[in-house]
Amino acid sequence: MPIVLSVNSGSSSLKYQLIDMPSEHVMAKGVIERIGLGDSIHTYSMNDIKVEVTEDIANHEAAVGHLLKMVQHDKYGAIQSLDEIQAVGHRVVHGGERFSNSVLMTDEVMNQLHACIELAPLHNPANITGIQAFQKLLPSVPHVAVFDTAFHQSMPKKTYLYSLPYEYYEKFGIRKYGFHGTSHRFVTKRAAQIMDRPLEELKLISCHLGNGSSIAAVHGGQSIDTSMGFTPLAGVTMGTRSGDVDSAILPFLMDKLDLSEKEVLDIYNQKSGLLALSGISSDLRDIEEAAQQGNERANLAIDIFVERIRNYIGSYAVQMNGVDAIIFTAGIGENSQWIRSLILEKLDWMGIHFDPQQNGVRGVERELTYATSPVKAFIIPTNEELMIARDTMSISGIEEGMELCLR
Ligand code: AMP
Repeated sequence: MPIVLSVNSGSSSLKYQLIDMPSEHVMAKGVIERIGLGDSIHTYSMNDIKVEVTEDIANHEAAVGHLLKMVQHDKYGAIQSLDEIQAVGHRVVHGGERFSNSVLMTDEVMNQLHACIELAPLHNPANITGIQAFQKLLPSVPHVAVFDTAFHQSMPKKTYLYSLPYEYYEKFGIRKYGFHGTSHRFVTKRAAQIMDRPLEELKLISCHLGNGSSIAAVHGGQSIDTSMGFTPLAGVTMGTRSGDVDSAILPFLMDKLDLSEKEVLDIYNQKSGLLALSGISSDLRDIEEAAQQGNERANLAIDIFVERIRNYIGSYAVQMNGVDAIIFTAGIGENSQWIRSLILEKLDWMGIHFDPQQNGVRGVERELTYATSPVKAFIIPTNEELMIARDTMSISGIEEGMELCLR
């Protein structure tokens, strides 16, 4: 059976899963952190075996070499030879307007990824470095790029355009792109399966709530709006990111604090959100604990987070002229009983009959509404790695090859 390697390369990290397809069984997975920073850590697991190796891994190519050795290891390996890996799927954060689907990597696609760097200067270079390292060490297998932005390319112009001079869109590509597309696509597809209804007829609101959070309105399987924008800074309050704020605050702060534009933007990205509001942590677990002990700022941070999410839900219900289900996913969406109940409790006007008895779970698929509820709510754990592997299977052509073999 084909084995697909699903990869997410960051600037100093590399996460991977070796997935057997089409059974979708995860054979092995790991993460290499601190690449190029000294004392790199490779954490690897296969079934119940867990291995942690600390050694200097100088760059992404060395990290890929490390990973490929590990998956073939005498004792811990999941495969005997690299020939068993039939394709590699890569997460790419920004595909601009050029990519509305996952694609097979070619020289032309690589050029286009380079052209998208200006839209995601923090993420795309690392994604490209990762792809190049894998292409060098696994040159004879297909490589597929899966974009965070691609799913949202279906948004209509009236949604993705900002009310700024039109030529800025034409000249510089300034528009809403949206992110977390692979996750929103995975959970909305799964919701349709759970509901046993065609995705094409459903109006869904997907809440990906993690350290970074975004909400998406998905009508008939197509993203028609999402809360993140030109960058992942926009939308709801996040762990350290501000979410939506009035743009005029930026020059005002530059003046008041005598800071550069980059320094203020760093504050928006790294020192705002739940961290800034609570004054405690960007991690919701710490904030919930403090709030339970009566900490006012922690309670305020939770109130603001919940209100921003509810506002997007209301707005998307209006845009779609109704909703069939709301989905919770990612670290907070899958695990925080408290946040889910604060969001769902007062939505009965919308047809959501929330069943608190169902809510006391973490990280599992669960319906959160009564069987008779006209509008449903679900927890659906996301699985971006699997979505990448599925796309890689269908786009690389190994799926057809497999059918031929089976015939
Ligand atoms: P992610 O970025 O998807 O990994 O999500 C990270 C966020 O999920 C952090 O804010 C965590 O505090 C939050 N999270 C993880 N587990 C829990 C939990 N049991 N209760 C509340 N929040 C959680």
